[in-house]
Amino acid sequence: METPDNEIFRDSIGTITEEGKRAWVFPKKPSGKFYKYRKWVSYGLLAFLLLSPFIKIDGNQFLMFNVLERRFNIFGFPFWPQDFHLFVVSMIIGVIFITLFTVAFGRIFCGWICPQTIFMEMVFRRIEYWIEGDRGKQIRLSKQPWSAEKIRKKGLKLFIFLIISFIIANVFLAYLIGSDKLIQYITEGPFSHVSTLISLIIFTAVFYFVFAWFREQVCIIACPYGRLQGALLDTKSIVVAYDHKRGEAKNGRKKFRKNEDRQALGHGDCIDCFQCVNVCPTGIDIRNGTQLECVNCTACIDECDHIMENINLPKGLIRYASEENIEKKAPFKLTVRMKGYIAVLSIMIGLLIGMLFLRNDVEANVLRLPGQLYEHKENNIISNVFTYKLVNKTTKDIESVYFKLMSHKGELKLVATHDSFVVPSQGMTEGTLFIEINNAALTGDRNKIKIGVYTNDKLIETTTANFLGPRSYK
Ligand code: SF4
Ligand code: SF4
Repeated sequence: METPDNEIFRDSIGTITEEGKRAWVFPKKPSGKFYKYRKWVSYGLLAFLLLSPFIKIDGNQFLMFNVLERRFNIFGFPFWPQDFHLFVVSMIIGVIFITLFTVAFGRIFCGWICPQTIFMEMVFRRIEYWIEGDRGKQIRLSKQPWSAEKIRKKGLKLFIFLIISFIIANVFLAYLIGSDKLIQYITEGPFSHVSTLISLIIFTAVFYFVFAWFREQVCIIACPYGRLQGALLDTKSIVVAYDHKRGEAKNGRKKFRKNEDRQALGHGDCIDCFQCVNVCPTGIDIRNGTQLECVNCTACIDECDHIMENINLPKGLIRYASEENIEKKAPFKLTVRMKGYIAVLSIMIGLLIGMLFLRNDVEANVLRLPGQLYEHKENNIISNVFTYKLVNKTTKDIESVYFKLMSHKGELKLVATHDSFVVPSQGMTEGTLFIEINNAALTGDRNKIKIGVYTNDKLIETTTANFLGPRSYK
C-alpha cells in the first residue's frame, strides 16, 4: 500500500539520507523563554551531576553506584550487597515514577533532566556555536574544502570535546568506584592502577564518540526510554505539540504576506517558515505530529513564538499540550491509568520507607561450617563449629563486639581472637566460633539457636543458626 503524502515522513528517519547515510543536523541556536529556563535548570543539574560523587553525608558519598562491589549510595544513604532488595525496590519506584510522569507529561524528562540532552545541548552544542557559529556558518564550514580556518576550528572544537569527555569520564568513574578511590588513584599515579586507567580511556572514548559524533542518534536509536514512548503516551499526555487546528485552519499553512487578511482567506497561522524545523536538534518537523525522535526540548516552541510575535499573532502555535487539548480544547485530567500508577507508586514508597526503618546498621550471619557435623565431648556436651560474618554499614567503627547465645544455656567461643573484637566502619569482620550446649538442652538433631550481637552490653543485632545434635538423643 502506498503511503499518503502527508504520512511520508514516517517512512524515514530525519537524520538518515535516502542513500542510508547520516544526514548531519545543524540546529539553529535556540533562544527564548523556555531556553532561558532550561539553561538555569541545566546549570543546577550539571553542578549536581559533577559534584554529587564528591559530597559526603555522615561520611557516605552522596551518590555512588559501585556495581562491581554491589554497593550503592543514594542521597547519602548506603545500600550494601545485603540491602540489594532495598536498592531494587528504590529502582522500581524510580521506574514507576518516570512511567507515571511520562504518561502525564510525555518526554519532559528528556528535554529538561536527561544528562544526554543537558551535556549535548548545554555544553557540547554551545561550544560548537561559540567556535563554529550558528547554523548557517556551520553548514558553510562543513561544505568548504579543508583550509587553515576549517582545521583550526574543527581541531579546537574536537580537542575541547576530548577534554570535557575526559572530565566526564573521571566523574563517571567517581560514581562507579567512589570519589575517595578515584582521588587516591590520581595521587598515586595512573600507572599504578592500569586497569582503572584503561577503563578511564574507554569511558573517555565512549563519551567523545557520543557527543562528537553519535549525538541525537542516542535519543532516536539507542535510548530504551525513547522507544517506550509509543506504549506510554496517549491522547491525554502533555507533549510539545503543534496546534494543527490553528496552524492549518481551513486552507492550510501559507507563506506570510504583508497586509494580507489570513483569517479571511482561511489560511492557518503557520507561515511555513521552517524555523521550528531548523532549530530542532533531532532534525524533525513537529508539524507532522508527535514523533519518537522528539525529545521535548522546547526549542521549536521558542522559535515559533518569536515568529508569531513578529507577525503579530498569538504565541503558542507550538506549545505544551495534549492531543485532546488541541482537538477538543479539553483541560488536563487524571486518567484511570495515571490513578493506577499513582496507587502503585504510593504502595511502593510506603514499602520502601517501612523497609528502611527495619533495616539494621549491622548485619550478622552465622552459618555452620560446611561439611561439619557435631562433636560429642565429655560431660554430654555437644559442640558445633560455625563461621560468622559481621557487616558494619555505618561510618564509625563498632568497638567491643561480642556474641551471646540467647536461646540456650551453653558456651560460645571465638577462635583465634579475644572475647570481643572491632568491626571497622563500612567494613566487615569474619571468623570462626564454637558453640557448646549440653545435650540434655537439645530437642532433636536439628535445633534452632538464637545468637545476639552486643557492643558494650548493648544488643545491636540478633541472628539464628542451626545447631546439630545426635539423632538418637531425640
Ligand atoms: S515556526 Fe511556527 S510558523 Fe514557522 S513553520 Fe514552524 S509552526 Fe509554522
Ligand atoms: S520537535 Fe521541537 S521539542 Fe521536539 S526535539 Fe525538535 S525542537 Fe525539540
